[in-house]
Amino acid sequence: MEQAGADWMHLDIMDGHFVDNISFGPAIVGIVRKHTKLPLDVHLMIEHPDHYAPRFVGAGANSITVHVEPESKHDVAETLRSIQTAGCRAGLSLNPATPFEAVEPHLANIDLLLVMTVHPGFGGQAFRAEMMEKVKRAREWQRSRHAALDIEVDGGINAKTAKLSIENGANVLVAGTSIFRAQNYRAAIAELRGGGR
Ligand code: ZN
Repeated sequence: MEQAGADWMHLDIMDGHFVDNISFGPAIVGIVRKHTKLPLDVHLMIEHPDHYAPRFVGAGANSITVHVEPESKHDVAETLRSIQTAGCRAGLSLNPATPFEAVEPHLANIDLLLVMTVHPGFGGQAFRAEMMEKVKRAREWQRSRHAALDIEVDGGINAKTAKLSIENGANVLVAGTSIFRAQNYRAAIAELRGGGR
């Protein structure tokens, strides 16, 4: 993916409990680590991420994002702290149905906010434009405090929704389907950036 122009690799970890799909675990992340120098952005869509996060740190994750929803069954503040203590960047994510207020108390303690723009679990879903309100509020919060906060969108990102996300304040775009279904990965990634580089 380096050659294709990606800045990071985003790895979706699903356990069949928090989301109704199963992907892969730390062993595969460790293998990916050996094949790329790109930062590995690990998105834990699992129950008990506090228990599993250290294994992903050990596998070579650069950032680990956990979910704020109670269904992920952990002490959010404590998990974020332990990820940072382990030397990783800590991210927090919220599903489309979860209001922005759920992440607000944690914003000062995270490196990255991941706004889900589809319901997590499966690729290929349509982007929910109404989630841009959350992106906008997060960017306003970041600007008013001059905080170092990445604002990432995940789900249904293509050239059109990338543009909308950037306009609303996102600076990290996760794309799967729109890149992997393209003939030319490099061209698809350049298009997400708005045609630049
Ligand atoms: Zn993800």
